[in-house]
Amino acid sequence: MKIVMPGDRVGSTEEYIKGRGVYEENGELFAAVAGYLVIKDRVASVESFSNIPEVMKGDVVLGRVVDVRNTMALVEVVSKKGEERTLTTRSLGLLHISNVDEKYVKDISEAVGYLDIVKARVIGDNLRLSTKEEDMGVLKALCSTCRSEMIREGDMLKCPDCGRVEKRKISSDYGKGEW
Ligand SMILES: [Zn+2]
Repeated sequence: MKIVMPGDRVGSTEEYIKGRGVYEENGELFAAVAGYLVIKDRVASVESFSNIPEVMKGDVVLGRVVDVRNTMALVEVVSKKGEERTLTTRSLGLLHISNVDEKYVKDISEAVGYLDIVKARVIGDNLRLSTKEEDMGVLKALCSTCRSEMIREGDMLKCPDCGRVEKRKISSDYGKGEW
């Protein structure tokens, strides 16, 4: 199924009928929420990721970054702190650039990378996430060139194989193997 983010174009009103989670602007249809795009009987709708009964506002979760775009990152939430089991429902959380760090973040790709493992707090509905706290952020990152696990060096991460240096919002738990 296709994953869409708020503001993504899903089609035109000539192609589809506006369904749930979709809004229209000048004959074009856009996703209003993050979720899976569903086209059924010409109706385009977006099923939001919000429905994880096991996760609530205030919870700390562990997830994998599956997409990084413009001002947002999508995080597949796999585990909840305090419960060692993996969640039965896989769901996607949304990390907006304004919730990444206390400090100003100009480009979200300087804070999280594709397939990074992150620790985040759930701050609102639709699995909105924040990594502002010191121990929140990236716990494990792979080099974008050679896919080796990167090692922390001060505020940066360095690849032990190719020497590449990358920037992240690094959790104080980075590389500890626990969270
Ligand atoms: Zn590398």
